[in-house]
Amino acid sequence: MAQYPDLKLFIAGEWRTAGGAPVINPADETTLGTVPHASRADLDDALAAAQDGFRAWSRTAPARRAEIILRATQLIRERVEDLAVAMTLEQGKPIAQSRLEIIRGCEIIEWDAQEGRRVYGRIIPSEPGMRHSVLRQPIGVVAGFSPWNFPMSSPARKVGGALAAGCSIILKASEETPAGAVQLVQAFADAGLPRGVLNLVFGVPSEISEYLIPQPSVRLVTFTGSVPVGKHLSALAGAHMKPAIMELGGHSPVFVCDDVDPASTAAKSVVGKSRNAGQVCVSPTRFFVEDAIHDRFVESFTQKAAALKIGNGLDPAIEMGPLANERRLAAMDALVTDAKAKGARVTTGGSRIGNRGYYYPLTVIADIPDNARAMREEPFGPLALISRVRNLDEAIEKANAVPYGLAGYAFTNSARNADLLAERVEVGNLSINHFTASTAETPFGGVKDSGIGREGGVEGLQCYTVVKNVSRLTA
Ligand code: NAD
Repeated sequence: MAQYPDLKLFIAGEWRTAGGAPVINPADETTLGTVPHASRADLDDALAAAQDGFRAWSRTAPARRAEIILRATQLIRERVEDLAVAMTLEQGKPIAQSRLEIIRGCEIIEWDAQEGRRVYGRIIPSEPGMRHSVLRQPIGVVAGFSPWNFPMSSPARKVGGALAAGCSIILKASEETPAGAVQLVQAFADAGLPRGVLNLVFGVPSEISEYLIPQPSVRLVTFTGSVPVGKHLSALAGAHMKPAIMELGGHSPVFVCDDVDPASTAAKSVVGKSRNAGQVCVSPTRFFVEDAIHDRFVESFTQKAAALKIGNGLDPAIEMGPLANERRLAAMDALVTDAKAKGARVTTGGSRIGNRGYYYPLTVIADIPDNARAMREEPFGPLALISRVRNLDEAIEKANAVPYGLAGYAFTNSARNADLLAERVEVGNLSINHFTASTAETPFGGVKDSGIGREGGVEGLQCYTVVKNVSRLTA
């Protein structure tokens, strides 16, 4: 029997238990454990600990900070098999994807730790006798909120950035997939991270965010989740004059130009779309396919999607697991029903598989009209929407017509097309001829409703710092 860890809060360097809510395995709807809910007193203790932790950690040499952080990721790498099983149990993704996510989480934290040694300020040339020095300092206590779709790599983004910059953090991870964060924090505790630098809480999300964000000691808010919640938390942060990093939803366009092979592009697209059952903010969703190859692309996509092996992610042969919660099943059904009523053609999938476990097939919807709800609302699930376009201009216009602007993808062999897309598509991350939206060293984030700020890369680390200009009369 696979192992699922005890779920606890981590406050001031100690694990605490509390009553809470059940965690459900989406593959069979059984209960895996109970996620503890933090009380007001727990949150107050976490705030006090994080202030103490900040004082100590911000004054620790960057090289020493990196040493402790890298010891933690080494422990995570050694524990990857156990961590992957727990992640698949609570989130549903295939075990191979869980392993990859854990390694990717380590890569993110490791890159941040190493880059944390190079958070340079600068000297501004000035008149003789005056010295202007620009210091980049850690911003302070961070309140981080991570979602249920990436239980390890999303907390890794927030913890990695904060700790590498010299900040302390109170992480409120997802109550639906808490084990990833618990195991991440355990590794930092085992690595000797000083008490209070990293604190982990769970509870009712709105109650925790509304209590923590206004607290004077909290100096930065970072959230990954939906656009409506992101707008609410940004407003709350703004009301208290705090910067916010918001990684929100997306509705990624995929431009399929008529100079590529439709069958191999469709095969890659099925792999990209089925990743984490489409529950990814950068999931490829709106496929704009040029007329000349449209029919062959739809045919290949349909065949490959129908052949996907769907089931319990603990089975290594499985290619797509269940959806993570029951809400996603209802959301898929509503969007498919609406698209069909508006004249779209479902070429494969379209309804729940079985009645135990939240299984839903990769569903291909062709001839989808622009006014279908799925074309404007983020499906956040395994729906591939395929539209026929006359040319790239039409595709770009349609792609930019939604309020989202997170990731985009394009398949073309033409440098001219690639340049045009790079220039005109309104997204934070554009990937040409592949489906990887970001890596540890590249800045990741959105434009328009998809968010503000960046995670990853030099830009991501800078979000955890403030700038101070010190001018000194030297003569
Ligand atoms: P939701 O809008 O209720 O919640 C989204 C996330 O925000 C969850 O992790 C939730 O715990 C958290 N949350 C909700 N209210 C909060 C509050 N007041 N304070 C702090 N955190 C809060 O939706 P859901 O059903 O959980 O997820 C579905 C939608 O969320 C999708 O449509 C998708 O757009 C979005 N989502 C996006 C990402 C992402 O990676 N950007 C991840 C998960 C969910």
